[in-house]
Amino acid sequence: MATVYTACRLAVQLVNRIPQVAAVIAVALLECRCLARMGTRKKVQAFVRVKPTDDFAHEMIKYGDDNKSIDIHLKKDSRRGVVNNQQTDWSFKLDGVLHDASQDLVYETVARDAVSQALDGYNGTIMCYGQTGAGKTYTMTGATENYKHRGILPRALQQVFKMIEERPTHAITVRVSYLEIYNENLFDLLSTLPYVGPSVTPMTIVENPQGVFIKGLSVHLTSQEEDAFSLLFEGETNRIIASHTMNKNSSRSHCIFTIYMEAHSRTLSDEKYITSKINLVDLAGSERLGKTGSEGRVLKEATYINKSLSFLEQAIIALGDQKRDHIPFRQCKLTHALKDSLGGNCNMVLVTNIYGEAAQLEETLSSLRFASRMKLVTTEPAINEKYDAERMVKNLEKELALLKQELAIHDSLANRTLVNYDPMDEIQIAEINSQVRRYLEGTLDEIDIINLRQIQEVFNQFRVVLSQQEQEVESALRRKYTLIDKNDFAAISAVQKAGLVDAEGHLVGEPDGQSFGLGVAPFSIKPGKKSRSKKTLKDQLRPSTPPSKPVAFEDFKNERGSEINRIFKENKSILNERRKRASETTQRINVIKREIDVTKDALNFQKSLREKQGEYENKGLMIIDEEEFLLILKLKDLKTQYRNEYQELRDLRAEIQYCQRLVDQCRHRLLLEFDIWYNESFVIPEDVQAALKQGSSIRPGMVPVNRIVSLGEDDQDRFSQLQQTVLPEGPDSISFYNAKVKTEQKHNYMKTMVGLQQSHRKQSHQ
Ligand code: ADP
Ligand code: MG
Repeated sequence: MATVYTACRLAVQLVNRIPQVAAVIAVALLECRCLARMGTRKKVQAFVRVKPTDDFAHEMIKYGDDNKSIDIHLKKDSRRGVVNNQQTDWSFKLDGVLHDASQDLVYETVARDAVSQALDGYNGTIMCYGQTGAGKTYTMTGATENYKHRGILPRALQQVFKMIEERPTHAITVRVSYLEIYNENLFDLLSTLPYVGPSVTPMTIVENPQGVFIKGLSVHLTSQEEDAFSLLFEGETNRIIASHTMNKNSSRSHCIFTIYMEAHSRTLSDEKYITSKINLVDLAGSERLGKTGSEGRVLKEATYINKSLSFLEQAIIALGDQKRDHIPFRQCKLTHALKDSLGGNCNMVLVTNIYGEAAQLEETLSSLRFASRMKLVTTEPAINEKYDAERMVKNLEKELALLKQELAIHDSLANRTLVNYDPMDEIQIAEINSQVRRYLEGTLDEIDIINLRQIQEVFNQFRVVLSQQEQEVESALRRKYTLIDKNDFAAISAVQKAGLVDAEGHLVGEPDGQSFGLGVAPFSIKPGKKSRSKKTLKDQLRPSTPPSKPVAFEDFKNERGSEINRIFKENKSILNERRKRASETTQRINVIKREIDVTKDALNFQKSLREKQGEYENKGLMIIDEEEFLLILKLKDLKTQYRNEYQELRDLRAEIQYCQRLVDQCRHRLLLEFDIWYNESFVIPEDVQAALKQGSSIRPGMVPVNRIVSLGEDDQDRFSQLQQTVLPEGPDSISFYNAKVKTEQKHNYMKTMVGLQQSHRKQSHQ
């Protein structure tokens, strides 16, 4: 038993797994499911890097002892007179001030952690902000001709490949792209390289549930450090060339170098994988060029830069404001492209590059303000975890195979051989279908249970058979009766107006009217009430819109349906009465049964007592005491009662069954009559005679053709004979007999119409 139970449980597991497999396949089609594991909130890190100078403004720029703050002191502008409210001192708290710092130290302080976390699945953004010449490009890219002075970008690539080497358990792929945004236009700095992928021009920024990406931007796979460097240099070169050929000022463009990583576990069983990207952003110079009276191209550039940087600032302010839930990312290309890299689930680092000279103090102040705003932003770094659908399917397939094997073992232990758990083939399904049919017909007592799949298929086939039977019933009805869509008032009224359906619900011209009711004699109205007078009255009172069916049904039950409704109610009350009696009889039987049991027990007790005490025998007859004798009598009596009651119950049951059938029939009849009455009474009749004429708008199905233009019985016979003699002659005979049929139908049509007109005339003369 336990084995069978386990086998069943396994089967359930198996079947339950099937939708899961399907779901996985669906996921595969819909790309990968993305899951971000949320971390704790974290502030954006903001650093200041001061460009080395011989002319450092010592009196104006002071660093805090911990190197985490910077104080600016401005001398009072003497030209503004003695009384002026000009602010002269500022203090900025930061995460670190990098003064005279080597490229190496800058990388360690600013970028190492973010890059290392990117390999664990966290997105990272490192941004350089500041006025032109302050050292953004130097910090980000560094001197490309001097290895020692290389910047964050080449160092990040190096760190990535070094860490990949240290993680043999994972297969990690690295891709890079290099985007430039100049005057609100997107440029692919790696477009000169061969690239297999969709090339979309102009490039567009696209958002999807996975994040933001630039459609048309080439993303290049790199398997080693050297290749990655080549890509970086290619981009740098393109940036310089473009600045000459297109007369672009490279300090007025934003550059975004992105490293994309995807890490899959090398063990197949792990379906999860992680993705991440690091954006390394070299922003355009932040100086307020507009004020210096620039013209033409310079003014245009300045406008774009100022706009995009101020949009960046707005986005940063919004991100820093906990109450804001809408961040204006889409105002410019820069913030839109960085939408999922600013704030959100990223590690974010800002390097603000400033000059140390007094002459640049105004721009320095503005840059430091930006940095302190950035510090207000918090992010919630999270791992970008995804599911490898293909692996998941493979794993589930493996598990499925294993469970099947296990099931087979359990089956053989339970001596259940040859149980098949595979999906059923057509032959097996057909067999089940026939079982179900035989079961419904009563020629098969029960359907053996084999497994869950078979049970499900049995239910399926029940549904199939049921719907087939419904169709069969309907088509049988259609063959025999005029079935008109009850909601198609036009059709109904057309038929009624033509007098094809009379007040009794019979087709005109059908002497017995039998065929309009479901094989039941047509409903006859109460004696004394004439159908014709009723019809006229009804026609006079007919409302313009039909009443609701429930309301009409109440009227019907009082009016024409009163007789059948009375019979229906009577039958129902008989049925209920019989049911009540049956239930009472059952209760009595149960009581008798209990009493029989008690008496039997008592008798047995007496018997055993007698056997223990020694028995008396007189002339071969057993002598028993009075008590035992009474018990025997009582038992006999009880058994008689039991039999009688039981017989009564059986009779009652038969009666109930019969009454039930009567009630069902009455109900059916009542509803059928109601529908006919409803259509007749409330649906405005049209002149179908006109409608029936050739070429008019009457539709097939509205009036069954076989009623109006069908061949008479004799004609039908002749037609069959004709078919038998003509058809063997070959296909050429078809047009011949078609013509014959048409002629005959036309003839019949004329006959029917004449008949209809006559019967109308007769009715109106009565
Ligand atoms: P930006 O990109 O902000 O306009 P650059 O990075 O191009 O500025 O710097 C301008 C010049 O200053 C370059 O020649 C660069 O080599 C030099 N420079 C900037 N920062 C430093 C630094 N920390 N150490 C040495 N040279 C620097
Ligand atoms: Mg630059």
